[in-house]
Amino acid sequence: MKPVIALVGRPNVGKSTLFNRLTRSRDALVADLPGLTRDRHYGEGRVGERPFLVIDTGGFEPVAKEGIMHEMAKQTKQAVAEADVVIFIVDGRQGLTPHDKTITDFLRKSGRSVMLVVNKAEGMKYTSVTADFYELGLGDPYVISAAHGDGVHDLVNEALDLVAVQQPAMEEEEPAPGNKGIKIAIVGRPNVGKSTLVNTLLGEDRVIAFDMPGTTRDSIEIPFERDGKHYTLIDTAGIRRRGKVFEAIEKFSVVKTLQSISEANVVLLLLDAQQDISEQDAHIAGFILESGRALVVGVNKWDGLDADKRDQIKMDMERKLNFLFFAKFHFISALKGSGIAPLMKSVEAAYEAAMAKLSTPRLTRALIEAVEHQQPRRKGSIRPKLRYAHQGGQNPPIVVIHGNALEAIDDNYKRYLEKHFRETFSLVGTPLRIELRSSK
Ligand code: GDP
Ligand code: GDP
Repeated sequence: MKPVIALVGRPNVGKSTLFNRLTRSRDALVADLPGLTRDRHYGEGRVGERPFLVIDTGGFEPVAKEGIMHEMAKQTKQAVAEADVVIFIVDGRQGLTPHDKTITDFLRKSGRSVMLVVNKAEGMKYTSVTADFYELGLGDPYVISAAHGDGVHDLVNEALDLVAVQQPAMEEEEPAPGNKGIKIAIVGRPNVGKSTLVNTLLGEDRVIAFDMPGTTRDSIEIPFERDGKHYTLIDTAGIRRRGKVFEAIEKFSVVKTLQSISEANVVLLLLDAQQDISEQDAHIAGFILESGRALVVGVNKWDGLDADKRDQIKMDMERKLNFLFFAKFHFISALKGSGIAPLMKSVEAAYEAAMAKLSTPRLTRALIEAVEHQQPRRKGSIRPKLRYAHQGGQNPPIVVIHGNALEAIDDNYKRYLEKHFRETFSLVGTPLRIELRSSK
Protein backbone atom coordinates (compact mmCIF):
# COMPACT_ATOMS: atom_id res chain seq x y z
CA MET A 1 0.00 0.00 0.00
CA LYS A 2 1.09 3.53 -0.59
CA PRO A 3 2.69 5.16 2.44
CA VAL A 4 0.68 8.00 3.92
CA ILE A 5 2.36 11.29 4.80
CA ALA A 6 0.45 13.89 6.83
CA LEU A 7 1.48 17.55 6.75
CA VAL A 8 0.84 19.20 10.10
CA GLY A 9 1.55 22.66 11.45
CA ARG A 10 -0.12 25.88 12.43
CA PRO A 11 -1.64 28.14 9.78
CA ASN A 12 0.70 29.93 7.36
CA VAL A 13 3.78 27.81 7.85
CA GLY A 14 3.57 26.60 4.25
CA LYS A 15 1.60 23.36 4.36
CA SER A 16 -0.44 23.98 1.24
CA THR A 17 2.60 25.26 -0.61
CA LEU A 18 4.37 21.99 0.16
CA PHE A 19 1.24 19.98 -0.59
CA ASN A 20 0.91 21.56 -4.02
CA ARG A 21 4.53 20.93 -4.76
CA LEU A 22 4.21 17.27 -3.77
CA THR A 23 1.01 16.57 -5.65
CA ARG A 24 1.44 18.82 -8.64
CA SER A 25 -1.30 17.57 -10.87
CA ARG A 26 0.03 15.64 -13.81
CA ASP A 27 -3.11 16.08 -15.74
CA ALA A 28 -4.47 19.57 -16.09
CA LEU A 29 -7.45 18.21 -18.00
CA VAL A 30 -8.64 16.37 -14.94
CA ALA A 31 -8.32 19.48 -12.83
CA ASP A 32 -10.46 21.57 -15.11
CA LEU A 33 -13.52 19.44 -15.67
CA PRO A 34 -16.65 21.42 -14.95
CA GLY A 35 -18.63 20.22 -11.96
CA LEU A 36 -15.78 18.27 -10.48
CA THR A 37 -14.99 19.15 -6.91
CA ARG A 38 -11.82 17.80 -5.51
CA ASP A 39 -10.74 17.65 -1.97
CA ARG A 40 -7.54 19.63 -2.03
CA HIS A 41 -6.46 18.11 1.24
CA TYR A 42 -5.71 14.70 -0.16
CA GLY A 43 -3.42 13.94 -3.02
CA GLU A 44 -1.04 11.51 -4.58
CA GLY A 45 2.60 12.20 -5.12
CA ARG A 46 5.66 10.41 -6.37
CA VAL A 47 9.40 10.80 -6.01
CA GLY A 48 11.23 8.77 -8.59
CA GLU A 49 9.54 5.38 -8.52
CA ARG A 50 8.06 5.85 -5.07
CA PRO A 51 4.37 6.74 -4.86
CA PHE A 52 2.76 8.05 -1.69
CA LEU A 53 -0.42 9.67 -0.40
CA VAL A 54 -0.23 13.06 1.21
CA ILE A 55 -2.72 14.76 3.49
CA ASP A 56 -2.68 18.50 4.13
CA THR A 57 -4.34 18.88 7.50
CA GLY A 58 -5.40 22.45 6.80
CA GLY A 59 -5.93 24.62 9.83
CA PHE A 60 -4.64 22.86 12.87
CA GLU A 61 -6.14 24.49 15.95
CA PRO A 62 -5.70 22.01 18.76
CA VAL A 63 -7.17 24.26 21.42
CA ALA A 64 -10.56 24.96 19.88
CA LYS A 65 -13.40 23.17 21.62
CA GLU A 66 -16.25 23.65 19.21
CA GLY A 67 -17.30 24.90 15.82
CA ILE A 68 -15.39 24.60 12.62
CA MET A 69 -11.96 24.74 14.25
CA HIS A 70 -12.91 21.86 16.46
CA GLU A 71 -14.12 19.94 13.42
CA MET A 72 -10.81 20.59 11.69
CA ALA A 73 -8.86 19.48 14.73
CA LYS A 74 -10.87 16.26 14.69
CA GLN A 75 -10.02 15.73 11.04
CA THR A 76 -6.40 16.45 11.74
CA LYS A 77 -6.41 13.84 14.46
CA GLN A 78 -7.87 11.29 12.14
CA ALA A 79 -5.32 12.18 9.48
CA VAL A 80 -2.48 11.79 11.95
CA ALA A 81 -3.91 8.48 13.17
CA GLU A 82 -3.93 7.19 9.61
CA ALA A 83 -0.52 8.51 8.62
CA ASP A 84 2.65 6.45 8.53
CA VAL A 85 4.75 9.51 9.05
CA VAL A 86 3.99 13.08 10.03
CA ILE A 87 5.82 16.02 8.55
CA PHE A 88 5.55 18.73 11.16
CA ILE A 89 6.21 22.10 9.60
CA VAL A 90 7.36 25.19 11.45
CA ASP A 91 8.16 28.64 10.13
CA GLY A 92 11.86 29.47 10.04
CA ARG A 93 11.22 33.17 9.52
CA GLN A 94 8.91 33.49 12.47
CA GLY A 95 10.71 31.19 14.86
CA LEU A 96 9.20 29.06 17.60
CA THR A 97 5.68 29.87 18.82
CA PRO A 98 3.66 28.48 21.74
CA HIS A 99 1.31 26.94 19.23
CA ASP A 100 4.18 24.83 17.85
CA LYS A 101 4.68 23.43 21.34
CA THR A 102 1.02 22.47 21.66
CA ILE A 103 1.20 20.64 18.37
CA THR A 104 4.39 18.90 19.47
CA ASP A 105 2.64 17.60 22.59
CA PHE A 106 -0.22 16.30 20.54
CA LEU A 107 2.08 14.60 18.05
CA ARG A 108 4.10 13.00 20.81
CA LYS A 109 0.94 11.47 22.28
CA SER A 110 -0.09 10.19 18.86
CA GLY A 111 2.90 7.87 18.79
CA ARG A 112 3.55 8.57 15.11
CA SER A 113 6.97 9.10 13.59
CA VAL A 114 7.46 12.82 13.28
CA MET A 115 9.88 14.72 11.09
CA LEU A 116 10.39 18.29 12.19
CA VAL A 117 10.74 20.53 9.19
CA VAL A 118 11.72 24.18 9.19
CA ASN A 119 10.23 25.87 6.15
CA LYS A 120 10.97 29.19 4.43
CA ALA A 121 14.66 28.52 4.95
CA GLU A 122 15.81 29.73 1.54
CA GLY A 123 18.89 31.89 1.82
CA MET A 124 19.33 31.18 5.52
CA LYS A 125 22.05 29.37 7.43
CA TYR A 126 21.12 25.97 8.86
CA THR A 127 22.32 26.79 12.36
CA SER A 128 20.52 30.09 12.64
CA VAL A 129 17.24 29.01 11.10
CA THR A 130 17.00 25.85 13.20
CA ALA A 131 18.39 27.08 16.56
CA ASP A 132 14.99 27.87 18.07
CA PHE A 133 13.45 24.54 17.35
CA TYR A 134 15.72 22.14 19.24
CA GLU A 135 13.67 23.01 22.29
CA LEU A 136 10.81 20.93 20.87
CA GLY A 137 12.85 17.81 21.52
CA LEU A 138 12.21 16.38 18.08
CA GLY A 139 15.87 16.09 17.11
CA ASP A 140 17.72 17.75 14.25
CA PRO A 141 15.26 19.64 12.10
CA TYR A 142 15.16 19.28 8.34
CA VAL A 143 15.22 22.55 6.47
CA ILE A 144 13.35 23.22 3.27
CA SER A 145 11.90 25.93 1.16
CA ALA A 146 8.50 24.73 0.03
CA ALA A 147 8.15 27.75 -2.21
CA HIS A 148 11.45 27.19 -4.01
CA GLY A 149 11.59 23.43 -3.69
CA ASP A 150 14.90 23.30 -1.83
CA GLY A 151 15.30 20.16 0.24
CA VAL A 152 11.84 18.84 -0.60
CA HIS A 153 12.97 15.86 -2.65
CA ASP A 154 15.38 14.67 0.05
CA LEU A 155 12.79 15.22 2.74
CA VAL A 156 10.25 12.99 1.03
CA ASN A 157 12.82 10.32 0.33
CA GLU A 158 13.78 10.28 4.00
CA ALA A 159 10.13 10.15 5.02
CA LEU A 160 9.59 7.15 2.78
CA ASP A 161 12.76 5.47 4.07
CA LEU A 162 11.41 5.94 7.57
CA VAL A 163 8.14 4.26 6.65
CA ALA A 164 10.02 1.41 5.02
CA VAL A 165 12.07 0.61 8.13
CA GLN A 166 9.00 0.82 10.36
CA GLN A 167 7.14 -1.74 8.41
CA PRO A 168 7.68 -5.35 9.36
CA ALA A 169 9.60 -7.26 6.73
CA MET A 170 7.16 -8.25 4.06
CA GLU A 171 6.36 -11.90 3.98
CA GLU A 172 7.08 -13.66 0.77
CA GLU A 173 4.10 -13.14 -1.42
CA GLU A 174 2.24 -16.39 -1.81
CA PRO A 175 2.05 -17.61 -5.35
CA ALA A 176 -1.23 -16.48 -6.80
CA PRO A 177 -3.83 -19.23 -6.48
CA GLY A 178 -4.78 -19.41 -10.11
CA ASN A 179 -6.24 -16.40 -11.78
CA LYS A 180 -7.23 -13.68 -9.36
CA GLY A 181 -9.24 -11.87 -11.97
CA ILE A 182 -10.20 -8.25 -11.93
CA LYS A 183 -9.42 -6.30 -8.79
CA ILE A 184 -12.47 -4.37 -7.70
CA ALA A 185 -12.79 -1.65 -5.08
CA ILE A 186 -16.26 -0.71 -3.90
CA VAL A 187 -16.29 2.89 -2.73
CA GLY A 188 -18.86 5.43 -1.65
CA ARG A 189 -19.88 7.51 1.28
CA PRO A 190 -21.32 5.89 4.41
CA ASN A 191 -24.70 4.18 4.13
CA VAL A 192 -24.90 3.99 0.35
CA GLY A 193 -24.96 0.21 0.67
CA LYS A 194 -21.35 -0.93 0.24
CA SER A 195 -21.48 -3.71 2.82
CA THR A 196 -24.83 -4.83 1.49
CA LEU A 197 -23.40 -5.07 -2.01
CA VAL A 198 -20.36 -6.95 -0.74
CA ASN A 199 -22.68 -9.39 0.99
CA THR A 200 -24.70 -9.80 -2.17
CA LEU A 201 -21.59 -10.42 -4.23
CA LEU A 202 -19.86 -12.77 -1.84
CA GLY A 203 -22.71 -14.40 0.05
CA GLU A 204 -23.04 -14.02 3.82
CA ASP A 205 -20.99 -17.08 4.64
CA ARG A 206 -17.99 -15.82 2.83
CA VAL A 207 -18.17 -12.49 4.57
CA ILE A 208 -18.11 -14.12 7.96
CA ALA A 209 -15.34 -16.49 6.96
CA PHE A 210 -13.13 -13.57 6.03
CA ASP A 211 -14.14 -11.46 8.95
CA MET A 212 -10.92 -11.72 10.87
CA PRO A 213 -9.43 -9.14 13.14
CA GLY A 214 -6.52 -7.18 11.75
CA THR A 215 -5.00 -3.78 11.95
CA THR A 216 -6.53 -0.69 10.45
CA ARG A 217 -3.85 -0.65 7.80
CA ASP A 218 -4.68 -4.06 6.46
CA SER A 219 -5.67 -4.26 2.90
CA ILE A 220 -7.39 -7.52 2.30
CA GLU A 221 -7.92 -9.16 -1.00
CA ILE A 222 -10.95 -11.39 -1.10
CA PRO A 223 -11.19 -13.66 -4.10
CA PHE A 224 -14.67 -14.50 -5.28
CA GLU A 225 -16.36 -16.06 -8.24
CA ARG A 226 -19.54 -15.09 -10.05
CA ASP A 227 -21.00 -16.67 -13.12
CA GLY A 228 -17.81 -18.60 -13.59
CA LYS A 229 -15.60 -15.51 -13.54
CA HIS A 230 -12.91 -14.72 -11.00
CA TYR A 231 -12.65 -11.42 -9.19
CA THR A 232 -10.78 -10.02 -6.24
CA LEU A 233 -12.39 -7.56 -3.92
CA ILE A 234 -10.03 -5.02 -2.38
CA ASP A 235 -11.16 -4.27 1.11
CA THR A 236 -8.98 -1.83 2.96
CA ALA A 237 -10.94 -2.63 6.10
CA GLY A 238 -14.01 -0.68 6.94
CA ILE A 239 -16.45 -2.17 4.52
CA ARG A 240 -17.00 -5.49 6.20
CA ARG A 241 -15.72 -5.00 9.67
CA ARG A 242 -17.26 -1.75 10.62
CA GLY A 243 -18.79 -1.59 14.04
CA LYS A 244 -16.54 -4.20 15.53
CA VAL A 245 -12.86 -3.51 15.70
CA PHE A 246 -13.08 -0.08 14.17
CA GLU A 247 -15.77 1.68 16.05
CA ALA A 248 -13.21 4.18 17.26
CA ILE A 249 -12.37 5.26 13.75
CA GLU A 250 -14.57 7.49 11.66
CA LYS A 251 -16.95 5.49 9.57
CA PHE A 252 -15.66 7.07 6.42
CA SER A 253 -11.95 7.26 5.75
CA VAL A 254 -10.59 9.15 2.78
CA VAL A 255 -7.24 7.44 3.18
CA LYS A 256 -8.77 3.98 3.00
CA THR A 257 -10.85 5.02 0.04
CA LEU A 258 -7.76 6.30 -1.77
CA GLN A 259 -5.80 3.17 -0.90
CA SER A 260 -8.48 0.84 -2.26
CA ILE A 261 -8.85 2.90 -5.41
CA SER A 262 -5.15 2.79 -6.09
CA GLU A 263 -5.00 -0.99 -5.67
CA ALA A 264 -7.98 -1.74 -7.86
CA ASN A 265 -8.30 -2.21 -11.61
CA VAL A 266 -11.93 -1.20 -11.60
CA VAL A 267 -13.67 1.00 -9.07
CA LEU A 268 -17.33 0.51 -8.36
CA LEU A 269 -18.67 3.81 -7.14
CA LEU A 270 -21.90 3.40 -5.22
CA LEU A 271 -24.41 6.23 -4.93
CA ASP A 272 -27.66 6.32 -3.00
CA ALA A 273 -30.67 6.94 -5.24
CA GLN A 274 -32.74 7.87 -2.22
CA GLN A 275 -30.46 10.76 -1.27
CA ASP A 276 -29.23 13.76 -3.22
CA ILE A 277 -25.80 13.63 -4.76
CA SER A 278 -23.60 15.20 -2.13
CA GLU A 279 -20.33 17.04 -2.07
CA GLN A 280 -18.77 13.90 -0.61
CA ASP A 281 -19.96 11.81 -3.58
CA ALA A 282 -18.37 14.32 -5.93
CA HIS A 283 -15.13 14.34 -3.95
CA ILE A 284 -14.89 10.57 -4.17
CA ALA A 285 -15.66 10.70 -7.88
CA GLY A 286 -12.86 13.25 -8.20
CA PHE A 287 -10.39 10.91 -6.51
CA ILE A 288 -11.34 8.10 -8.86
CA LEU A 289 -10.93 10.32 -11.88
CA GLU A 290 -7.55 11.48 -10.73
CA SER A 291 -6.41 7.91 -10.11
CA GLY A 292 -7.19 6.97 -13.70
CA ARG A 293 -8.84 3.73 -12.65
CA ALA A 294 -11.66 2.23 -14.65
CA LEU A 295 -15.06 3.06 -13.25
CA VAL A 296 -18.56 1.68 -13.06
CA VAL A 297 -21.24 3.60 -11.20
CA GLY A 298 -23.92 1.77 -9.22
CA VAL A 299 -26.91 3.88 -8.30
CA ASN A 300 -28.19 1.85 -5.39
CA LYS A 301 -31.52 1.60 -3.54
CA TRP A 302 -33.42 1.76 -6.83
CA ASP A 303 -36.10 -0.41 -5.27
CA GLY A 304 -39.26 1.29 -4.06
CA LEU A 305 -38.95 4.41 -6.24
CA ASP A 306 -41.75 5.41 -8.58
CA ALA A 307 -41.23 6.27 -12.25
CA ASP A 308 -41.29 10.06 -11.76
CA LYS A 309 -38.76 9.90 -9.01
CA ARG A 310 -36.53 7.68 -11.13
CA ASP A 311 -36.57 10.13 -14.03
CA GLN A 312 -35.77 12.98 -11.72
CA ILE A 313 -32.82 11.10 -10.21
CA LYS A 314 -31.44 10.21 -13.61
CA MET A 315 -31.52 13.84 -14.67
CA ASP A 316 -29.91 14.97 -11.46
CA MET A 317 -27.07 12.47 -11.90
CA GLU A 318 -26.45 13.52 -15.46
CA ARG A 319 -26.22 17.13 -14.46
CA LYS A 320 -24.05 16.77 -11.38
CA LEU A 321 -21.80 13.96 -12.48
CA ASN A 322 -21.36 14.88 -16.13
CA PHE A 323 -17.58 14.59 -15.72
CA LEU A 324 -18.08 10.83 -15.34
CA PHE A 325 -19.39 10.72 -18.90
CA PHE A 326 -17.04 7.85 -19.76
CA ALA A 327 -18.54 5.46 -17.19
CA LYS A 328 -21.62 3.26 -17.33
CA PHE A 329 -24.34 3.94 -14.78
CA HIS A 330 -26.37 1.05 -13.40
CA PHE A 331 -29.51 1.35 -11.35
CA ILE A 332 -29.46 -1.42 -8.82
CA SER A 333 -30.68 -2.74 -5.53
CA ALA A 334 -27.92 -4.33 -3.50
CA LEU A 335 -30.50 -5.38 -0.95
CA LYS A 336 -32.79 -7.16 -3.41
CA GLY A 337 -29.94 -8.31 -5.58
CA SER A 338 -31.37 -6.71 -8.72
CA GLY A 339 -29.29 -5.28 -11.54
CA ILE A 340 -26.13 -7.03 -10.35
CA ALA A 341 -25.47 -9.15 -13.43
CA PRO A 342 -25.40 -6.20 -15.88
CA LEU A 343 -23.33 -4.26 -13.36
CA MET A 344 -20.70 -6.99 -13.36
CA LYS A 345 -20.79 -7.10 -17.16
CA SER A 346 -19.85 -3.45 -17.18
CA VAL A 347 -17.05 -4.16 -14.72
CA GLU A 348 -15.68 -6.67 -17.25
CA ALA A 349 -16.06 -4.23 -20.11
CA ALA A 350 -14.43 -1.40 -18.18
CA TYR A 351 -11.52 -3.67 -17.35
CA GLU A 352 -11.06 -4.70 -20.95
CA ALA A 353 -11.10 -1.08 -22.05
CA ALA A 354 -8.61 -0.14 -19.34
CA MET A 355 -6.25 -2.92 -20.40
CA ALA A 356 -6.73 -2.53 -24.14
CA LYS A 357 -3.63 -2.89 -26.27
CA LEU A 358 -3.52 -0.16 -28.86
CA SER A 359 -0.91 -0.71 -31.51
CA THR A 360 1.17 2.16 -32.86
CA PRO A 361 -0.10 1.80 -36.45
CA ARG A 362 -3.75 1.80 -35.39
CA LEU A 363 -3.25 4.72 -33.02
CA THR A 364 -1.37 6.67 -35.65
CA ARG A 365 -4.09 5.99 -38.19
CA ALA A 366 -6.73 7.19 -35.74
CA LEU A 367 -4.63 10.28 -35.05
CA ILE A 368 -4.28 11.13 -38.72
CA GLU A 369 -8.02 10.67 -39.20
CA ALA A 370 -8.75 12.97 -36.31
CA VAL A 371 -6.43 15.67 -37.67
CA GLU A 372 -7.84 15.38 -41.18
CA HIS A 373 -11.29 15.84 -39.81
CA GLN A 374 -10.34 18.81 -37.66
CA GLN A 375 -6.99 20.61 -37.62
CA PRO A 376 -5.61 22.03 -34.39
CA ARG A 377 -5.80 25.79 -34.30
CA ARG A 378 -2.81 27.96 -35.04
CA LYS A 379 -1.34 29.84 -32.15
CA GLY A 380 0.02 32.99 -33.71
CA SER A 381 2.12 31.80 -36.59
CA ILE A 382 2.59 28.37 -35.10
CA ARG A 383 0.65 25.38 -36.35
CA PRO A 384 1.12 22.25 -34.22
CA LYS A 385 2.02 19.13 -36.20
CA LEU A 386 0.78 15.80 -34.88
CA ARG A 387 2.83 13.03 -36.41
CA TYR A 388 2.29 9.69 -34.73
CA ALA A 389 0.95 8.11 -31.55
CA HIS A 390 1.90 5.18 -29.38
CA GLN A 391 0.50 3.66 -26.22
CA GLY A 392 2.29 4.81 -23.07
CA GLY A 393 0.43 2.76 -20.48
CA GLN A 394 -2.61 0.79 -19.40
CA ASN A 395 -5.24 1.18 -16.68
CA PRO A 396 -5.64 3.98 -17.65
CA PRO A 397 -4.68 3.78 -21.30
CA ILE A 398 -2.26 6.56 -22.14
CA VAL A 399 -1.92 7.75 -25.69
CA VAL A 400 1.36 9.52 -26.31
CA ILE A 401 1.28 11.82 -29.30
CA HIS A 402 4.50 12.87 -30.97
CA GLY A 403 4.98 15.87 -33.17
CA ASN A 404 6.13 19.47 -33.29
CA ALA A 405 4.94 22.58 -31.51
CA LEU A 406 2.46 20.50 -29.53
CA GLU A 407 2.55 22.97 -26.66
CA ALA A 408 0.28 25.13 -28.81
CA ILE A 409 -2.51 22.56 -28.55
CA ASP A 410 -5.30 23.67 -26.26
CA ASP A 411 -7.45 21.65 -23.87
CA ASN A 412 -10.42 21.67 -26.20
CA TYR A 413 -8.45 20.02 -28.94
CA LYS A 414 -7.05 17.52 -26.47
CA ARG A 415 -10.60 16.64 -25.47
CA TYR A 416 -11.51 16.28 -29.12
CA LEU A 417 -8.64 13.85 -29.63
CA GLU A 418 -9.60 11.91 -26.53
CA LYS A 419 -13.16 11.57 -27.82
CA HIS A 420 -11.91 10.41 -31.19
CA PHE A 421 -9.65 7.71 -29.72
CA ARG A 422 -12.41 6.66 -27.34
CA GLU A 423 -14.83 6.16 -30.20
CA THR A 424 -12.34 4.53 -32.53
CA PHE A 425 -11.32 1.93 -29.98
CA SER A 426 -14.70 1.66 -28.17
CA LEU A 427 -13.21 2.53 -24.82
CA VAL A 428 -16.07 2.65 -22.33
CA GLY A 429 -15.58 2.76 -18.59
CA THR A 430 -12.02 3.95 -18.41
CA PRO A 431 -10.40 7.36 -18.35
CA LEU A 432 -8.08 7.93 -21.27
CA ARG A 433 -5.05 10.14 -20.99
CA ILE A 434 -3.44 12.03 -23.80
CA GLU A 435 0.20 13.06 -23.49
CA LEU A 436 1.85 15.36 -25.97
CA ARG A 437 5.55 15.08 -26.75
CA SER A 438 7.16 17.62 -28.97
CA SER A 439 10.43 16.88 -30.62
CA LYS A 440 12.71 19.81 -31.13
P1 GDP B 1 -0.48 26.93 5.29
O1 GDP B 1 -1.49 27.80 5.93
O2 GDP B 1 0.39 26.24 6.31
O3 GDP B 1 -1.04 25.97 4.29
O4 GDP B 1 0.55 27.91 4.52
P2 GDP B 1 0.62 28.34 2.97
O5 GDP B 1 1.17 27.23 2.16
O6 GDP B 1 -0.68 28.90 2.60
O7 GDP B 1 1.74 29.47 3.03
C1 GDP B 1 1.60 30.62 3.84
C2 GDP B 1 2.47 31.72 3.28
O8 GDP B 1 3.86 31.37 3.35
C3 GDP B 1 2.20 31.99 1.80
O9 GDP B 1 2.26 33.38 1.59
C4 GDP B 1 3.35 31.31 1.09
O10 GDP B 1 3.68 31.91 -0.13
C5 GDP B 1 4.47 31.45 2.09
N1 GDP B 1 5.48 30.40 1.94
C6 GDP B 1 5.26 29.07 1.85
N2 GDP B 1 6.43 28.39 1.71
C7 GDP B 1 7.40 29.34 1.70
C8 GDP B 1 8.83 29.28 1.60
O11 GDP B 1 9.43 28.21 1.43
N3 GDP B 1 9.51 30.46 1.67
C9 GDP B 1 8.87 31.64 1.84
N4 GDP B 1 9.63 32.73 1.92
N5 GDP B 1 7.53 31.74 1.93
C10 GDP B 1 6.81 30.61 1.88
P1 GDP C 1 -22.37 1.18 3.77
O1 GDP C 1 -22.18 2.10 4.92
O2 GDP C 1 -22.11 1.86 2.46
O3 GDP C 1 -21.63 -0.12 3.89
O4 GDP C 1 -23.95 0.83 3.72
P2 GDP C 1 -24.74 -0.46 4.24
O5 GDP C 1 -24.52 -1.60 3.34
O6 GDP C 1 -24.42 -0.65 5.68
O7 GDP C 1 -26.24 0.03 4.03
C1 GDP C 1 -26.78 1.14 4.71
C2 GDP C 1 -28.30 0.98 4.83
O8 GDP C 1 -28.89 1.01 3.55
C3 GDP C 1 -28.68 -0.33 5.47
O9 GDP C 1 -29.78 -0.09 6.31
C4 GDP C 1 -29.08 -1.20 4.28
O10 GDP C 1 -30.04 -2.17 4.61
C5 GDP C 1 -29.67 -0.16 3.36
N1 GDP C 1 -29.55 -0.59 1.94
C6 GDP C 1 -28.45 -1.08 1.31
N2 GDP C 1 -28.74 -1.39 0.03
C7 GDP C 1 -30.03 -1.10 -0.17
C8 GDP C 1 -30.92 -1.21 -1.30
O11 GDP C 1 -30.56 -1.65 -2.39
N3 GDP C 1 -32.20 -0.79 -1.13
C9 GDP C 1 -32.65 -0.29 0.06
N4 GDP C 1 -33.92 0.09 0.13
N5 GDP C 1 -31.85 -0.19 1.15
C10 GDP C 1 -30.56 -0.59 1.06
